[in-house]
Amino acid sequence: MSYDYDLLVIGAGSGGLAAAKQAGNYGAKVGIIEEDRVGGTCAVRGCIPKKLLLYASGFSHLYKDAVGYGWEAAKPNFNWPTLAENVDRQISHLSQLQIDALEKAGAELIRGKAAFVDAHTLAVGDRQLSADRILIATGSKPKLPDLPGIEHAISSNKIFTLPAQPKRMAIVGGGYIGVEFAGIFNGLGSEVIQLVRGDNILRGFDEEIRTHLHDAMVDRGITILTDTETKGLEKTADGTRIFLKGENAPESITVDTVVLFATGRNPNIDDLALEKASVETDSGAVVVNEWSQTNQSHIYAVGDAVDRVNLTPVAIEAGRAFVDTVFGNTPRQVNYTNIPTAVFSQPETGTVGLTEAEAKEEIGEENVKVYRSTFGPLFYSLTEFEEKTLMKLVVDGQSDRILGVHMVGKDAAEIIQSVAIAMNMGATKQDFDKTMALHPSTAEEFVTMT
Ligand code: NDP
Repeated sequence: MSYDYDLLVIGAGSGGLAAAKQAGNYGAKVGIIEEDRVGGTCAVRGCIPKKLLLYASGFSHLYKDAVGYGWEAAKPNFNWPTLAENVDRQISHLSQLQIDALEKAGAELIRGKAAFVDAHTLAVGDRQLSADRILIATGSKPKLPDLPGIEHAISSNKIFTLPAQPKRMAIVGGGYIGVEFAGIFNGLGSEVIQLVRGDNILRGFDEEIRTHLHDAMVDRGITILTDTETKGLEKTADGTRIFLKGENAPESITVDTVVLFATGRNPNIDDLALEKASVETDSGAVVVNEWSQTNQSHIYAVGDAVDRVNLTPVAIEAGRAFVDTVFGNTPRQVNYTNIPTAVFSQPETGTVGLTEAEAKEEIGEENVKVYRSTFGPLFYSLTEFEEKTLMKLVVDGQSDRILGVHMVGKDAAEIIQSVAIAMNMGATKQDFDKTMALHPSTAEEFVTMT
């Protein structure tokens, strides 16, 4: 049977683009279907614009910190529309680079929204396209709870294109996005109130990391209301009123306009008509095996659509591993062990491996050794502002293997990325100790802990 394409990819985000380019480079006839800007959540309304906003918000502190280093105090003025416009221009540039890379790899970009007609055919507008293999890489979309007045809230999709900077805003959710945007808008000068239903931010992270970061965020001026449920929203003459429930929470608060709900994401697969191809799903996500293969052996899925580890590098790696296996004659699977992750909070959080609690659960409390260091970084020795860095190693006391590395402080993401290599090589605490310190640095703490 002959098909229009060797591979049709649904979704030009991180996973889909990586797969389409790689398959094209292997000589396959590839089509990639996208209804929105090319780049996906990470490049268009996630990691990349978020990190640019993060850089922007960091300047407010640097202006103040500079005074201790002999610079005259400056009264800087921040202009939100300039930032929003510059960020948008950069996204367009990155999107165009991806389009160029697709063209170079010989992959055809097909504009529109795809839905299955049958197991080998997709409808895109009024076209029907068939393929030998199909990759679902449609990502995820924000999940907002069904509350009265929820239409007055926004998700992170809209945060980059706000017409004006909020003066006083609320953020519902204490996960990655909530914590990151609380820091960003606080740094830009907005008053931020974060509403967290649990007893602390970042559920699932190491307890000490959560507490250290929470306290640091509060010290930087963010109001965090924990054990606080959001009951509903109402538009008022002067903004949006948010009704709350919780022992320590006021009955309601009012913010000027922006209520950001960062309450998780769902796989973006509802409109794919997967039932027409009899593709199995579970809890709203595509079910795949370790080869990213669905129950239909020629249909694959990667990235947030499978809701496994929802991080960009994981989607990219899964897309490439699928293509290497199927089109490159090099079968390989994704390595899911010791995936490092960072929350671009202020201060930054980085982590890889097990938390202290997970390690104790896994190998027994008596076998876990914990090393930690809390210190004031050299940078803050001349500034008025002070902030402590926390670094922590979780070690198997029997084998001496490093099980987890956690950090809150400047450059945590950069440092944890390198540490993750050592962990994947099976590094022991002794290996860390045998490594010469690089002085003066923050990272040296990891090789000098006693
Ligand atoms: P998360 O799952 O990280 O956090 C969701 C937060 O919302 C949690 O605090 C959760 O509370 C809370 N929540 C969920 N439902 C409700 C509700 N009905 N009412 C009030 N609070 C609620 O999701 P995010 O949206 O922050 O981010 C989505 C995903 O995107 C992340 O999990 C991550 O995979 C990815 N991401 C990664 C980034 C990075 O790598 N730096 C940056 C941004 C996103 P509870 O803990 O009690 O469930």
